[in-house]
Amino acid sequence: MTSLSAETGSAETEAGASGRKPGERVAYFNGAIVPESEVRVPFRDRGFKYGDAVFDMTRTFGHRIFKIEEHIARFYNSLKYVQIDPGMTQKEMVAHSEEVLEANLPLLGPDDDYWVGQRVSRGVDLVGGDMWETAGGSSVIIECAPLPLKPRARLYRDGIDVWIPAIRRTPPESLSPRAKSHNYLNLIMADNEAKAHDPESWAILLDTRGFLSEGIGSNIFTIKDGVMYTPHPQYVLGGISRETAIELAAKIDVPVVEKDIDMFDATTADEVFLTSTSLCICGVRSVQGNQIGDGSPHGPITRALMDAYAELVKYDWMGQYLKRLEE
Ligand code: PLP
Repeated sequence: MTSLSAETGSAETEAGASGRKPGERVAYFNGAIVPESEVRVPFRDRGFKYGDAVFDMTRTFGHRIFKIEEHIARFYNSLKYVQIDPGMTQKEMVAHSEEVLEANLPLLGPDDDYWVGQRVSRGVDLVGGDMWETAGGSSVIIECAPLPLKPRARLYRDGIDVWIPAIRRTPPESLSPRAKSHNYLNLIMADNEAKAHDPESWAILLDTRGFLSEGIGSNIFTIKDGVMYTPHPQYVLGGISRETAIELAAKIDVPVVEKDIDMFDATTADEVFLTSTSLCICGVRSVQGNQIGDGSPHGPITRALMDAYAELVKYDWMGQYLKRLEE
């Protein structure tokens, strides 16, 4: 493994020297930047064995990274909550993330963008050790992956069909949803249930009290009589796009209230939308088969927020998605 250094040359050259295939992305793996094919997580890594790891994920807009400091701050809260030491400061995590992105940008088409993700597990279980003993420190990965623009493009033309599965979101008293952990089984089981109903639908789970919470990678908002509502922060991940939507609502003079949202609120809403790093903001056209508003992909306030989002990031991300429908 060869580490990348800004002084000694590009990752492409160094990783290439250690066997990077043409067109292969690089990733940061435990102190070095290496070709992705050399990121070999041991099978006794606790992230793999138990989901004993946390992660975060931002994206680029027109190849520029979005709110990296905010994502890394959330990441360090997740790490603190589960008591994993990543072995580097937030500043170093930001710098390494930017390094990995820089090294991978030449591989990206002009109209494509990346997810940029950080993952830290508690490390590799010590063979013969007791439950908490690891063979070394935590395992750290920083990676880039192209955004799934084509498969999601139709969501902006049609709107999302939300399905509420029977399975409930893990309650905060069991494991706080505010930490972005590798334990996605609860969300995956819920999504499988929604997909069994309709492969195109997106699951939004109720919490154990019967109020809307979140989906596998998204937060939800409803709009009624000009006011935006979203679930209380204790029951959901503090989405960076959720925060961004709240900031943008203030800019366009739409009040936002965090409250318990039940199925009555959801099905009688004038507009509903989801937020996520990849989606930014995407309108919902139905909830549990009930048409939202006039059934159009997004209502007027949702559209105004989408425009404000594009203005904020200085990039027409919705156009970027919609263009994929023509391919
Ligand atoms: N909720 C969950 C469970 C998620 O995994 C995500 C995605 O990261 C979100 C919400 C949305 O968060 P963000 O807007 O930061 O992508």
